[in-house]
Amino acid sequence: MREAKTSYNSGMRNQDIINRSLQSVWHPCTQMKRHEQFPLIPIKLGQGVWLHDAEGKRYLDAVSSWWVNLFGHNNSRIKNAIKQQLDMLEHVMLAGFTHEPVVKLSEKLAKLTGLGHAFYASDGASATEIALKMSFHYWRNLYSETPDKANKTKFISLQNSYHGETLGALGVTDVAIFKDTYAPLLMQSAQMPSPDFRLAEVGESAEAFALRCADALEQYVSEHSHELAAFIIEPLVQCAAGMGMYHPVYLKRAREICTQYEVHLIADEIAVGFGRTGKMFAYEWATEGNGHLTENIKALPDFICLSKGITGGYLPLSAVLTTDKIYQAFYDDSTVRGFLHSHSYTGNPLACSAALATLAIFEEDHIIEQNKILSANIVEKLSALNELPHVHLRHQGMIFAFDVQTKNTKFARDCYVSALNNGLLLRPIGNTVYWMPPYTISEAEVDFLVQATLKAVHASV
Ligand SMILES: *Cc1c(COP(=O)(O)O)cnc(C)c1O
Repeated sequence: MREAKTSYNSGMRNQDIINRSLQSVWHPCTQMKRHEQFPLIPIKLGQGVWLHDAEGKRYLDAVSSWWVNLFGHNNSRIKNAIKQQLDMLEHVMLAGFTHEPVVKLSEKLAKLTGLGHAFYASDGASATEIALKMSFHYWRNLYSETPDKANKTKFISLQNSYHGETLGALGVTDVAIFKDTYAPLLMQSAQMPSPDFRLAEVGESAEAFALRCADALEQYVSEHSHELAAFIIEPLVQCAAGMGMYHPVYLKRAREICTQYEVHLIADEIAVGFGRTGKMFAYEWATEGNGHLTENIKALPDFICLSKGITGGYLPLSAVLTTDKIYQAFYDDSTVRGFLHSHSYTGNPLACSAALATLAIFEEDHIIEQNKILSANIVEKLSALNELPHVHLRHQGMIFAFDVQTKNTKFARDCYVSALNNGLLLRPIGNTVYWMPPYTISEAEVDFLVQATLKAVHASV
């Protein structure tokens, strides 16, 4: 099972590339000294849900390579789209110029989201930065004639939120291990109680808890709306908090509250977009379940941040989508009322062509419908995990998670290493074990995933 069929005819051997990487590459989110004990895994080839190392050992990619991969590695449709674009145009600056892939992608995203203006960058954190700057700048433009009112400069986010790690994004992130060191550099923001159901009182329903959190949000917003630019949230699942899931009624209430008190709602769909939660975008759940939104309040956020899955995991790309109303507040004879923000690779044609191919797969293969079946099949197999000392077994669309009860303070690391030894790339967050696999995973691969997870968790509790 573990031996790859692929043969390797050239290139560096495992140990050689590991040593050279440690000498020259500063790896992300890593205390580099740890690699004295835990070897790097040099990956040579990806195929479907599998990553193959330079010596032919393979790992099932249960985390979609940090949540970016949607349709497997080495996907011929996305690959061919990039190859075709490569023969036409690799890149051109997007200020003063345009090209077919970026136009088509913007039109598609407008149709899918209902927000008609797309601004591009290359990673998720930059999308957060752009949404924050646009929101702030909108209020500034709106109140340019009445400076006494132009005080909407602050942001709020959820407790345990994650919106990226550049300084602006870190300012609205609430993960101590990423944030505390840099606290003196950061913009202040306030955190609202998280509706993550794990935080509910015993006996309280997910819905009742979400409504209670929404009441606290309303209390805060009603008192501070004069100084608030926007509320940024991860709709439905706070992934970096350990797949913290919450009832969709919170989304609905958040939209109502933000509309009522004139505060922007920014949906950070960087992780949950593109079908992860069972709908194309997680904010769409706002209209589900208990009744409809108050009349005249559309369920749409004012901004949507997209990245990660947008190119199927092929190339770095992010987008911020917004409304006509916000766009129009920048449209003016004055240069500085415009949004003077840019990144060199904004709207890169290769990345846009990968995104177009990704969206074509959603359409042609009816992915959202198909994933309902796939998700149900995986949920059925989750019962095999009942022998583990877990709590809060949960799922939302194509995200599956459970929290392990253990006294082992190094559980996450031990489980990661043990899973690797069993041919599985699993990366627990604290005591939360989760699967966010590519949508192309087969039944046999799900079986492998379940069995290897059982072994890894047993070996590390
Ligand atoms: C990953 C992530 C980001 C940051 O994206 P990067 O591309 O890593 O900068 C922001 N928000 C959420 C919800 C994420 O999951």
